[in-house]
Amino acid sequence: MITIEGAENLVDDRIAYANANGLSHRVGATYREPTSPWRVVWHDTEFRPSSVENARVSAIKHRTPPHIWASFEFNWVGLTVPLDLAAYALYHDANDPETNHMHALQIEVFGFASEGFSAEKCDWLGRRVLKPILNAGFPIDIYNVTPTTGGDGYGEDGKVRLSWDWWRTFNGQCVHANVPGNVHWDVGIADLTRIARAAAPPAVVNGLTSLHVGGPKVMDMTNNPNNGWINLCIVGQPNEAGETAVYHYSAPSVEALHEAVPENLGGDVSSVTCGWAGSRFVVIGVGAKDGKMYTRYWENGQWTPTWFNTPANGLVGPDYPTP
Ligand SMILES: [Zn+2]
Repeated sequence: MITIEGAENLVDDRIAYANANGLSHRVGATYREPTSPWRVVWHDTEFRPSSVENARVSAIKHRTPPHIWASFEFNWVGLTVPLDLAAYALYHDANDPETNHMHALQIEVFGFASEGFSAEKCDWLGRRVLKPILNAGFPIDIYNVTPTTGGDGYGEDGKVRLSWDWWRTFNGQCVHANVPGNVHWDVGIADLTRIARAAAPPAVVNGLTSLHVGGPKVMDMTNNPNNGWINLCIVGQPNEAGETAVYHYSAPSVEALHEAVPENLGGDVSSVTCGWAGSRFVVIGVGAKDGKMYTRYWENGQWTPTWFNTPANGLVGPDYPTP
C-alpha cells in the first residue's frame, strides 16, 4: 500500500464503513491503463469541515472518494485510497476513455470552487501534499500545469476543459475542470505553478553566451537605465533532476537578440519586454516550453534570486498582456 508522509491513514476505516453500508467503491481499483503517465488532479469538496473529526468522517463516508483529503484550515491530510490503486472522484462514462483508471492521483481539498486556492493554500498544498507525493516516487512533471478558471469552467465544453488526446499523455498537475468527459469546474482559480514551487523549487541555472546578462551588463543598466538594451529570459521545463534552466540574454537590438538565442531554445523574442518600474528594472519573458510568463527584477544592485509568475508578483499589474 503506497501512502504519503504526513497523511492520516483512513484506508481501513473507509473499507469498514463501505462494507457495513453496502458501498460499491471500497478499497480502490486496479489502474486499467498501466502504461499511462501519472498525473495529479486537484478537486475541492464544496464543503468546509467544522473540525478535524468532521473532515475525517466526511472522508470515510464519501461514496466516490479520492486518494487524499486536505484541510488547509486544520493543517490536516488524510488518505482514503492507497496511491497504487485507482480512486473514484472523476466521472467516467462507459463509452469514454478511462479517467480514474489512467494513473490519476486525486486530492480533494476542503473549500469552495468559488474561492479558488489562495496563495497561502497553494504553498501549504505544495508542502503537505505534492511534495510527499513526489517523495513517494511518483514521476509527476509538476511544472507541467493547466489553465484554471471560475464558474465558466462548468460543463463538458467549459472554458478550460481539455481533450482526450491531452488527457492520455498528460503527466503534470491539473484540476477537475480540465478533465474531459466531466462537467465539474472545481477547483476554481488556482496557481498550480505556485504549488509546484512550494513542493520543489526550481534550481536557477544561468547560461550561456557572451550576451548573458549578469555582472558587467547589469552595471551598465545601473549607470544608464535607458541604454536601450533588450532583455530576454527563457525558463525551461525542469529536467529529470528537477532543475529548471533559466537563460537570460541582453542585446542592443531585437535583431542582435535573435542572433544571440540558440535556435533550439525556441525563445519567442517578440513577446519579451523589459523596463523600469520605479527603482526596479523588470524583465519579463516566456518559458520556452511551458509558455508561461516569468518575471525577474533588478533593484539595489542585484537581481532577485528567483523568478516569479508575472500575474502573481504585483510588479506590473494584473492586466499585463500574456502572449
Ligand atoms: Zn471534483
